Amino acid sequence: MKTTEFAPKILAFCCNYCAYAAADLAGVSRMQYPPNVRIVRLPCSGKVDITYLLRAFQAGVDGVFVAGCLKGGCHFVEGNLRAEKRVQLAKNMLDAIGVGGERLEMFFLSSAMAPRFVGIVSEMTERIRKLGPTPLANARKTEKLKDLTKREFLYHMLSDISLIEPKAPIPVPEGVDEFGRVEHRVARCIGCRRCEEACPEKALKSSGEFDLPAILEAFQSKEKGSTKIARSYESIAKLALRKQVRSIPLPTGLDEFSRIRYMPERCVICDKCVDICPEKAMEVVKEIDIQTIFKAVRAR
Ligand code: SF4
Ligand code: SF4
Repeated sequence: MKTTEFAPKILAFCCNYCAYAAADLAGVSRMQYPPNVRIVRLPCSGKVDITYLLRAFQAGVDGVFVAGCLKGGCHFVEGNLRAEKRVQLAKNMLDAIGVGGERLEMFFLSSAMAPRFVGIVSEMTERIRKLGPTPLANARKTEKLKDLTKREFLYHMLSDISLIEPKAPIPVPEGVDEFGRVEHRVARCIGCRRCEEACPEKALKSSGEFDLPAILEAFQSKEKGSTKIARSYESIAKLALRKQVRSIPLPTGLDEFSRIRYMPERCVICDKCVDICPEKAMEVVKEIDIQTIFKAVRAR
């Protein structure tokens, strides 16, 4: 008995000037390619957003590709290169949540490369056929709650389509400046709260607590006191007889000892806190702390 061959659903995000024109030329030239691809035309591949890619998988497609102009030929100079880096980050995300980054790919072609477009569709169809149907056919659809920021929405979506608990932070490729995490170096902080005021996303908040566990951990390992406040932390760490597990509530008016709470699920890595901190206590690290983010979005 003949079994029906799996026909994967593939969504293609194509830039208007090259990839879409190549697809059009393939159609006009009556070239044959698998009919299972649906095209979304973008003004530039650089317009592609990670949210679009994840949304496509959440909607049940089996594979996605982004196609932009040849390197060096982008009508918006670097849109295709930016898209490539975002696609790489989205692949890292899909790997981290167990969906598999191979279901997503980036391609480059010119408007005259109709046979290449046909080749890409065939290549992706074959690849997805081997991988099998999407494991997200019954994925929960993320609701766009009114008070969610765009970044929180993305992380909610990622959590909703996650098949496994990520074991490590997600690496952020060089050149993707809007993702990462901010490291708050408690040993340097003087509690001036300028970072909190500067943050446009309300991702930083003075907690009103003295973060003794973090201070002991920092000063009992590598940190040395270079400011007055840091020297006092160093002394506390030397005097400590046991490990501390809880932060200590601070009396009103002792803001300089208040821990700055960082909410990575809101942060868009705008660098404002890094630039404004007079003590260089904020630093951007090129990874997404997905475990903390999942905890935060699931607690809402
Ligand atoms: S990088 Fe920007 S969004 Fe993130 S915590 Fe700092 S100021 Fe806020
Ligand atoms: S701006 Fe720097 S020193 Fe001031 S509270 Fe923020 S991290 Fe601490």
